[in-house]
Amino acid sequence: MIKSNFKDYQLSSEILKAISMLNFESPTKVQEQVIPAALEDKDIIVKSQTGSGKTAAFAIPICQLVDWDENKPQALVIVPTRELAIQVQEDIFNIGRFKRIKVAALYGKSPFYIQEKELKQKTHVVVGTPGRIIDHIERGTFDTSNIKYLVIDESDEMLNMGFVDDIETIIGSLPKKRVTMLLSATMPKDIEVLCTKYMKQPIHVEIEEESSSADRISQERYAVDHNDKIKLLRDITIVENPDSCIIFCNTKQKVDEVYDELTNLKYTCEKIHGGMEQRDRLRVMKDFKQGYFRYLVATDVAARGIDIDNISLVINYDIPQDRESYVHRIGRTGRISREGRAITFVTRYEGKFLKDIQKYIGKEIPLKERPEEEIINNSKQEFVEKINSSPEFKETKGAPLDKEIMKLHINAGKKTKMRPVDIVGTLCSIEGMTAEDIGIINVLDVSTFVEILNNKGEMVFQELQNKNIKGRPRKVSKAEM
Ligand code: AMP
Repeated sequence: MIKSNFKDYQLSSEILKAISMLNFESPTKVQEQVIPAALEDKDIIVKSQTGSGKTAAFAIPICQLVDWDENKPQALVIVPTRELAIQVQEDIFNIGRFKRIKVAALYGKSPFYIQEKELKQKTHVVVGTPGRIIDHIERGTFDTSNIKYLVIDESDEMLNMGFVDDIETIIGSLPKKRVTMLLSATMPKDIEVLCTKYMKQPIHVEIEEESSSADRISQERYAVDHNDKIKLLRDITIVENPDSCIIFCNTKQKVDEVYDELTNLKYTCEKIHGGMEQRDRLRVMKDFKQGYFRYLVATDVAARGIDIDNISLVINYDIPQDRESYVHRIGRTGRISREGRAITFVTRYEGKFLKDIQKYIGKEIPLKERPEEEIINNSKQEFVEKINSSPEFKETKGAPLDKEIMKLHINAGKKTKMRPVDIVGTLCSIEGMTAEDIGIINVLDVSTFVEILNNKGEMVFQELQNKNIKGRPRKVSKAEM
């Protein structure tokens, strides 16, 4: 079979460059079908699992199609959770990096006014959770009059969370003439109803996975008494000695409890659940993605759609009570054709959940004997060495794109009437600089951030030490990316 190539599509050099720097060598199956159709402004229904490259499948055509010169948002992506909103925002931002696409993320438990300020500036794409999107629409801070592309991501999860009415409210505020894409891992009746009501002759894309994540991941279970779970968790982690591991529990209380136990045992460990402050949740996810610690104790908030590479082991400390949740949890390991490993603890009262899961995944999860004391003792030294060593640091996905970009801070902003055009004027007067070398410009009250692309940052930084910006010398320094 001839492998298709991103160059076969009508994509600009800026988008192709970002794709190549993100190390996407060839389109995934879902991308092969979605990208060309979306580039022709077709409505599309996609049935596909997370981990199939579906975010880039809609992000690539959207980044290609939005008009950079237009200030009002042109694309809206609705997602079920805040974590996903941030992740999808980052993915679109990375793909649109060299076209200078601005992507705002709107989600709850985060200051409204900061999002409002962001929306006042040029914004091409908005990604958000339903409740906060509606807040912004109702308060007039999100102008939807120019939305041409709507994406409803993780639709089945959105339905499970009771967001149907919210989605209909949002759709009601959008222009009728638009392209709509809907993505879902499963296609329950309610979603079909939504599609018939709001989509125009949609194309159906269904991706049969060659090997489903459930096949790719080696799965085992242990029978355990409720009171003995912590001991079993210790034993298993000693023997398995994973580089990185998520331990799923069914409730916040249990997460707190297991986290406290592991911290006492000096595991490098963090926790995440819905009861925590949003800021802390985001920090924990970011640190885990970058490999700052090995063990994450989590509720299902970390199970859906969250894209972390290289998790070697998933442990269901509590067996999930719904079968889809099982597939999502174990899908955190074995991403994009990697092999993964998942272990589930089952107490004697939980047989019915196990049965249901096995029926759903279409196979039995083999029962394992607990590791013998001798094996545990023999594994201890290596285990202790690993928990006392730092995990391997992982770069963020966008890091390769940042390498040729430098962000500069200019000590002047809106209060001194600084406008993006003033910055562009000065930068383009530097020899060797063109508008193509200028990335995102963010003018705040008393400061301005501007990105210099194509490895020209250092040169521009030096030049600006002695050059006037809007008639005066300004303090210019290098900013953190
Ligand atoms: P998603 O299904 O959107 O959660 O994507 C899963 C992962 O696949 C993400 O880490 C993407 O960055 C990565 N990815 C997306 N498209 C490609 C591609 N064409 N080649 C390699 N990796 C990809």
